[in-house]
Amino acid sequence: MILPILKYGDPILHKVCEPVTVFDRDLERLAKDMVETMYGAPGVGLAAPQVGVLKRLIVLDVTVGQKEGNLIILVNPEIIVAEGEQHEDEGCLSIPEFTAKVHRPYRVVVSGKDTNGKETVIEGEGLLSRVLAHEIDHLNGILFIDLLSSIKRDIIKRKIRKKVRAGEW
Ligand SMILES: [Zn+2]
Repeated sequence: MILPILKYGDPILHKVCEPVTVFDRDLERLAKDMVETMYGAPGVGLAAPQVGVLKRLIVLDVTVGQKEGNLIILVNPEIIVAEGEQHEDEGCLSIPEFTAKVHRPYRVVVSGKDTNGKETVIEGEGLLSRVLAHEIDHLNGILFIDLLSSIKRDIIKRKIRKKVRAGEW
């Protein structure tokens, strides 16, 4: 089931999510719906708060489903190693039509669990590192525009407000 994606301005996007403690069918269903929603958007990643659920769950696929074996579902993800630096354009399904260059680690190692509660470790470089960092930020109520200089952030916020007034948001 494709779920509605919350947009910037919704207070849920700024909240810190709770760790998942119950690994049941509901969690599996939520992850499945999030994957469908991500592919449908289409996007390379989605975090549970973007569909209104304040739980530490992210899904990502840097190939947007074009190449098998790239889907990652992570519960309670945590960055345990962050190395290097990159400064690339980033967007967000909750802030459609806006992109900006964001500083991210070039490589991350992330520990977490799958939907069965089994421990897993994911290592990512380049785009995968960016997406992992971006989605984990969502779980802490941080959006990519929060990482921009206040000048750049204000420009985007002003444009969003204009869209809101015009009923286009
Ligand atoms: Zn996002």
